Amino acid sequence: MKNQSKQYQISKVQQHKEKLLVDWTDGHQSIFHYIWLRDNCYCSLCGDPRHGEKRFRIVDVPLDIEPLSVSWDSGKALEILWQPDAHKSIYDAEWLRQHCYSAKEREHRQHRPIFWHSNIVTNLPQIAYEEVQTRDVGRLQLLEYLRDYGICFVRNVPTLKGKLESFAELFGPLLETNYGRVFEIVVDPEESQKSVANSQMNLIPHTDDAYQYAPPGIIFFHCLIANNDGTGESTFVDGFQIAEVLRQEDSEAFDLLCRYEIPFQKHYSDRLRPTAGERIDMRFSSPVFCLDSGGNVKEVRISNLFPAPFDLPVEIIQQFYAAYRKLMQLIIDPRYCLKQGLQPGDLVMFDNHRVLHGRTAIGRQNQHRHLRYCSVDRDYFHSQRRILNKNLSFGEIGLLNVN
Ligand SMILES: [Zn+2]
Repeated sequence: MKNQSKQYQISKVQQHKEKLLVDWTDGHQSIFHYIWLRDNCYCSLCGDPRHGEKRFRIVDVPLDIEPLSVSWDSGKALEILWQPDAHKSIYDAEWLRQHCYSAKEREHRQHRPIFWHSNIVTNLPQIAYEEVQTRDVGRLQLLEYLRDYGICFVRNVPTLKGKLESFAELFGPLLETNYGRVFEIVVDPEESQKSVANSQMNLIPHTDDAYQYAPPGIIFFHCLIANNDGTGESTFVDGFQIAEVLRQEDSEAFDLLCRYEIPFQKHYSDRLRPTAGERIDMRFSSPVFCLDSGGNVKEVRISNLFPAPFDLPVEIIQQFYAAYRKLMQLIIDPRYCLKQGLQPGDLVMFDNHRVLHGRTAIGRQNQHRHLRYCSVDRDYFHSQRRILNKNLSFGEIGLLNVN
């Protein structure tokens, strides 16, 4: 899984109208447009966008900008003097190759998540708490499981109340949500209006807080007490897998769920936090599946708990319901569902923009189950993965991708 960076060298450069053809010693050919090269000059005058210091303005050069001269120093760097003022740009060959936008290199850089279904139970992404706490390699392994599978189980986490917070803070600041920083999931009829998680009911897999502009990113559940009758088991479904199944089985249904937005809402009295306002009234609309420019699903938002009435063109209501029902059938299909009875000391982390979670009903006679819940956002999480990856000298090829 680790990518060692290679030593790329330029073997030939040819100037054409609007673009430069760059041949590499490994046989690959890149095309770089002059406007792209000028835009991406990272000299001290033009600035470096990695630090938010880009000073070059695209409107200050013509779209058909041309070089005055092009040279390449023993294949390790490309130097261009630009018309009309002989501005000098020097591009490191390694940098150029890492940013080559040929179809082949763009494909190569694309991160490929590993889709899963119920069979993942035989080969769970899991790691021991001690490994993550004490070793950078262990922490990186966990971060990569999250990136690749969207889920990871951590075992043997001490069942003390503060352990969830200190563990989650290894990956970023805890998010403050309408449930607070940490949410105690226990059977509590008084609190079940605030969250169905506090009820005993079966919860079918969903993503959390679909009614928010930015739902929580990485969610943590830490199990302190489990029911000894097997009720209240956690369920997980890979939203990316569901999307692909639907795309294969019924592409029209898939397209409808990518194109049309579902409105979500959450509304309740917040008697515990009166200073925060008397009520919560949150709403957001989003398609079920968000795609990247290559047509890959990059985000899912699915919740049967909070949809507002569909607000769609009259002529597509019937077919949209057909698509939505197919989606909901897939979500409750045992073939795609990982069922795990969390035990005291288990902690599960998952990407709420990909993996759906739910639970089986909690038995009437057995209501002891206690999970603690918190979340950190995806930005800090993935930032830490990239930094650890670099520090451990594994290189970083997929440097352009969010994933
Ligand atoms: Zn420059």
